Amino acid sequence: NLFTETNLSPEILKAIGELGFESPTEIQKQTIPFISTDIRDLIALAQTGTGKTAAFSLPILDMIDEGSRKIQFLVLCPTRELCLQITKDIKNYSKYMQNIKTTAVYGGSSIMDQIRSLRDKPQIIVGTPGRVIDMINRKALDFSEVQWVVLDEADEMLSMGFKDDLETILSETPDTKQTYLFSATMNKEVERISKNYLTTPHRISV
Ligand code: AMP
Repeated sequence: NLFTETNLSPEILKAIGELGFESPTEIQKQTIPFISTDIRDLIALAQTGTGKTAAFSLPILDMIDEGSRKIQFLVLCPTRELCLQITKDIKNYSKYMQNIKTTAVYGGSSIMDQIRSLRDKPQIIVGTPGRVIDMINRKALDFSEVQWVVLDEADEMLSMGFKDDLETILSETPDTKQTYLFSATMNKEVERISKNYLTTPHRISV
């Protein structure tokens, strides 16, 4: 299994081994060492199907503090479907990490149920911007200890009009976090948000 060269924890290697992952995809080869060691932000141009979810989740799961019950890792994505898919993937990758909890926060479903599910004290939130804003307004989410933010399908989120929501959410997170932007395409809006919210980002493209 060529993932052993990545130095990911035995718990993660066991989980992805069971999923049949034998070797890292191109984007995973680039992000796993980078996210694990470099404190710079990242812009990754990558399509769906390249293994991008594991590319950002695996190295962050490897670094997350299992002893803390604060939200450390926030993934923002454009749609409910993608939110549920990323949540399912992260739960699979972390299934042998006993104390790690992941909660999905998305529109079109009961906000009260989602607020109740936060009683699990998840370290990971995967959310769509509008619902995350609703929950911030209800003081249900505390992002003061967030260390990693992933903006997944940033081009889609911006074309759906989530720019202001993204800016509000990012302003709730500490300045010391790392931000990783994933996008299938690069355009003026993606460049603008990168320029405003990422610090000297490293760029990769697959
Ligand atoms: P994504 O681009 O994140 O939507 O991933 C596309 C699909 O590839 C998902 O079904 C993943 O489970 C799968 N996948 C991700 N990484 C690997 C890998 N290293 N080996 C085999 N399958 C993978």
